[in-house]
Amino acid sequence: MKNIIFIAPPAAGKGTMSKLLSDKYNYLHISTGDLLRKAKEKNDELGKQIESLLNSGKLLPDEIVYKVLDNCIKNIHNKLFILDGFPRNIDQVYYLEKLFKELNLNNYIVIYLDIDYDKAMARALGRLTCPICNKNYNKYIKSTKPKVENKCDICGSQLIIRNDDNEETFKIRYDTYIKETASILNYYKENNKLSVIIVNDNPQSMLKEIEKLLEV
Ligand code: AMP
Repeated sequence: MKNIIFIAPPAAGKGTMSKLLSDKYNYLHISTGDLLRKAKEKNDELGKQIESLLNSGKLLPDEIVYKVLDNCIKNIHNKLFILDGFPRNIDQVYYLEKLFKELNLNNYIVIYLDIDYDKAMARALGRLTCPICNKNYNKYIKSTKPKVENKCDICGSQLIIRNDDNEETFKIRYDTYIKETASILNYYKENNKLSVIIVNDNPQSMLKEIEKLLEV
């Protein structure tokens, strides 16, 4: 089995695919978005800093991201892992490369989830998220609707709409993706690490395609 790095525009399904894979194969799922949202809730100095930036749709400063990532990422050599939302710019790529070198870790693939702007926007505007287990649903897509309206299938919690899942912030997030993140695909392509999956509305069929890449 290989470790996985997901790179994708917002609302492409990184979180959903990570969850399916970690449930099935016991991956350690490291989502920088989830870590930042959790750190924000602490309401300490760092939490306050994060709060003012997180809903802007822009990337947070690397130092803040490394801080919330620190504990998880040091343990990655012990476990299969998925990086969901990291790296997101070229400096973060170099940070990770350095870490992988220190850990002598090369067993990973980078999966780009390919989706166009309109489809990603539609997905963001229909997304519902469980604040407890972080599972994502979509009220407009039959295969990913919650079984009971607005309730998490797994833990029964009331689903929420993320503060950044609105039209205005989505545009900024997508723009940020194009400006800062899309260019790192070239880096991984040149290093023969990149695979591409076209996003569709059926997470199970996407899972099968990813499994082919993982050779399981
Ligand atoms: P996500 O849950 O992956 O959509 O991330 C939500 C937000 O968290 C993003 O729009 C960014 O503001 C921030 N974020 C997540 N990961 C990173 C990262 N690697 N670098 C900088 N900001 C990040």
